[in-house]
Amino acid sequence: MKIKSAEFVISNSDVSKCPASQLPEYAFIGRSNVGKSSLINMLTHRKDLAKTSGRPGKTQLINHFLINNSWHLVDLPGYGYARVSKSAKKTFQKFITAYFEKREQMLCAFVLIDSRHEPQKIDLEFMEWLGEHHIPFCIIFTKTDKLKPGALQRNINNYQGKMLETWTEMPQYFVTSSSNGTGRDEVLDFIQSINDGILPKE
Ligand code: GDP
Repeated sequence: MKIKSAEFVISNSDVSKCPASQLPEYAFIGRSNVGKSSLINMLTHRKDLAKTSGRPGKTQLINHFLINNSWHLVDLPGYGYARVSKSAKKTFQKFITAYFEKREQMLCAFVLIDSRHEPQKIDLEFMEWLGEHHIPFCIIFTKTDKLKPGALQRNINNYQGKMLETWTEMPQYFVTSSSNGTGRDEVLDFIQSINDGILPKE
């Protein structure tokens, strides 16, 4: 997919105020600092569409971007950042879950996982919640340029092993790097293939 246009639409913390259109949308979510903003900028070839922030946990909003006038890319708040107070965490968890429960046009959530780390409880629990609520999702491994190929493969195998303790199969996953563009075509083509089932050809 070629990105011809990418524009910010609206930010809010209330799912009922998200755009009323029925355009297909794709949500990006993960722990703070996982590389979500960098990935969104890499996918859209925009320098600062999503604000990379030095202060993780700051942007606790649902951000809608309109891509190619045909689908929405949704930047969801990062979760699991210790410096966010417990009550703030609760609030954004509530609107994140409300978002997933109510947004029927959300066709696939991309759960971002830092490829360098051991599987983290919060991510596994979040994916379990998605599964229990029948919300389709894929995994995106981020920052893969920071690992040598052998170490990356080991970490992915390890992650797969962990997932297979609770899932019957490994969800579809993508290997990405915002530094060198790895995985960009794969993620965009995947989105395109879903859109093609729904939207008229561009
Ligand atoms: P967010 O909090 O999830 O939006 O994370 P950011 O996109 O702000 O990234 C957090 C930090 O990781 C920043 O210092 C980025 O420069 C760095 N980073 C993000 N993605 C990559 C990547 O693919 N490769 C490398 N080497 N660094 C990255």
